[in-house]
Amino acid sequence: MKTSHTTQGAIGSPPFLKRLIASLGVLSLGLAGCAQPRDLSVQAQQPVPVQPQPQAERNSLATLRDRASADVDALVKLGPRVAGTPAMEQASAYLLEEYRKAGYVADIQTFTYSKFEDRGSSVSVGGTTLQGRALRRTAAGTPTARLVAVPNVGDRDDFAAANVKGAIAIVRRGTLPFAEKVRNAAAAGAVGLLIVNNESGNFSGTLTQDASIPVLALSREQGQPLLERSQRERLTAKLTVNAGQRTVTGRNVVAHLPGVTQPQVLLGGHYDSVLGSPGANDNASGTATVLSIARQLSTTPLGRQTWFVAFDGEEDGLHGSKAFVNAAGPQFLKGLKGMLNFDMVGVNNSLLISGTPSLAKQVQIENAKIAPLGSDYGSDHASFAAAGVPVLFFYRGMEPNYHKPSDRQINPTLLTETAQAALKMLPQLVSSNATGGSGNRQ
Ligand SMILES: [Zn+2]
Repeated sequence: MKTSHTTQGAIGSPPFLKRLIASLGVLSLGLAGCAQPRDLSVQAQQPVPVQPQPQAERNSLATLRDRASADVDALVKLGPRVAGTPAMEQASAYLLEEYRKAGYVADIQTFTYSKFEDRGSSVSVGGTTLQGRALRRTAAGTPTARLVAVPNVGDRDDFAAANVKGAIAIVRRGTLPFAEKVRNAAAAGAVGLLIVNNESGNFSGTLTQDASIPVLALSREQGQPLLERSQRERLTAKLTVNAGQRTVTGRNVVAHLPGVTQPQVLLGGHYDSVLGSPGANDNASGTATVLSIARQLSTTPLGRQTWFVAFDGEEDGLHGSKAFVNAAGPQFLKGLKGMLNFDMVGVNNSLLISGTPSLAKQVQIENAKIAPLGSDYGSDHASFAAAGVPVLFFYRGMEPNYHKPSDRQINPTLLTETAQAALKMLPQLVSSNATGGSGNRQ
């Protein structure tokens, strides 16, 4: 699901975080200042509010929409929010501040996991450097050696037909698993392997076992001419594979009203994004929607039945929600009547809600398609469903900017519509007797 490999920044130092929190304070004041006159003008057009004045003022739909839009902008402005990078420290500080301003106790829950990282890998031949992609589970290394073309697809016989001892081998992708080509290359004495894509562009490959030599993927456009040249000429190549596992520290933002230790409902969405994408729809949209619901519930009884979580590490494999579920314990999870997850809700008009059948049956929402949970397990609700918690997944479907640098814009009205749909079903959810679980709780 990665769009590219580039060098990633290191985790920021505490002084950096302090400067950051200071700068966010200024930013927050700026936003509040902008929103104020608009609040008042909207207020003037509304019927007499039933709720106390300041609450109603804060919660008019237009104001909620503007604030959700500002939240998305603030997150997108940080650039790609890749787990374990300074952008995530900034994003988590922003969310903490917003939840606290809304009256919640908000904290960071940290967790760690191991992640493959390509810090920039390439091959240089005769003064020309071609950027490639390190395969997952490659060895790191920088060998300089003869470049030898291997015929066909790189089975054992193919390697026997080329003398790759002490050389960097270059072979086409296809037919055999990557790991087998690598094993054959290493067995034949190669000190590195280049795999040339058999279709346009490059690929992100994973080896099924650790490689003993560095392995680099090249696009067909760059690799095929090099492969053909190495069949005609004697070439020397310098291979640089700068990659390996890194321990990532993730940061979930967890918010609840003071004293609320056992919620009946947990609302969540991930706030990390993939490398190269600022993640407006995936998933600043869901993050802002959950925050918007929190703002609306902070002074209501429902607010005392609910926890809110912005998950980190989703794009690397649902790490944040898994860590939350593991830390929560069986008693906490058993008390949950539902976990509502919001992912990619800022683009496409139709709202798709899927979930545990018992829960999907309970909720009636106009203008939304409600379906049992199918194969849509690629987001954080899956971690809760696996622990026996009934789940609902709010989603608006695939869109062209998914995981791309162009994922920069959402329609804020869709966020407020999503939030209102969830708010409508919360009273039904909380008053229901059944916890709806399948019985296979942890
Ligand atoms: Zn997502």
